[in-house]
Amino acid sequence: TAVLANKVAFIQGGSRGIGAAIAKRLARNGAAVALTYISSADRAMQVVKDIEAAGGRALAIRADSADADAIKAAIGQAVTAFGRLDILVNNAGVLAIAPLAEFSLEDFDRTLAINVRSVFVATQEAARHMTEGGRIINIGSTNADRMPFAGGGPYAMSKSALVGLTRGLARDLGPRGITINNVQPGPVDTEMNPAGSEFAATLKAMMPVGRYGKDEEIASFVAYLVGPEAAYITGASLSIDGGFAA
Ligand code: NDP
Repeated sequence: TAVLANKVAFIQGGSRGIGAAIAKRLARNGAAVALTYISSADRAMQVVKDIEAAGGRALAIRADSADADAIKAAIGQAVTAFGRLDILVNNAGVLAIAPLAEFSLEDFDRTLAINVRSVFVATQEAARHMTEGGRIINIGSTNADRMPFAGGGPYAMSKSALVGLTRGLARDLGPRGITINNVQPGPVDTEMNPAGSEFAATLKAMMPVGRYGKDEEIASFVAYLVGPEAAYITGASLSIDGGFAA
């Protein structure tokens, strides 16, 4: 039987990019998957259709990660639909880059709300439903360790915040047999960070492997971490970044 058979996963931000790849990969490993989105309804539905076409179970829910009540309601909906909750992936994130003098407080607050506050809210709510063997994955960033260009301070701060949050929450969850880890990707080819851009060439030149990562590579790592073999990994920030921060 599939390694995640009878498990239920909830993914914040699963309509595109890394989150969509994680949704499909966890479904392929046997999990029923609920995924949220904010504006890409069609693409979220396409992910659901792809999973169903491959014989899996999936559900798309519109829920703004900046809205705590919306996150809680979505988790409740997933539990009602699939009967339990075993895996939470906090993937939704935004990247605002602007010179210091022009960086708006609105963008600063939105970065914190989606990249950090939503992780806390979803973890608190999901943990109520989880039992022994539960798994929580935050998608941080290599920018927590290295931010080699200007204008990204608030983004780097938001991903650094997840390092401490993950450590602390591991202490709350460990005694219940639930792990929480922070996966820190390097540049991955998505709409947030297209591999073909001029900016991408600068980033590639900084990396030992000289290329962007693929969303499937991140999904594969997450699939391992949420599986039964990874029970001894918790509170960790784990880089998968082609050596970007090396
Ligand atoms: P994309 O911009 O390609 O996709 C973002 C996903 O998050 C979409 O599914 C989007 O939904 C969802 N989302 C965004 N805002 C909200 C919100 N307010 N409420 C609910 N869902 C939301 O990003 P990536 O796939 O590139 O990034 C995913 C994660 O990985 C982020 O946390 C990012 O910071 C991190 N990361 C990315 C790297 C990269 O190089 N790509 C490198 C390191 C980390 P919708 O489609 O509806 O907008």
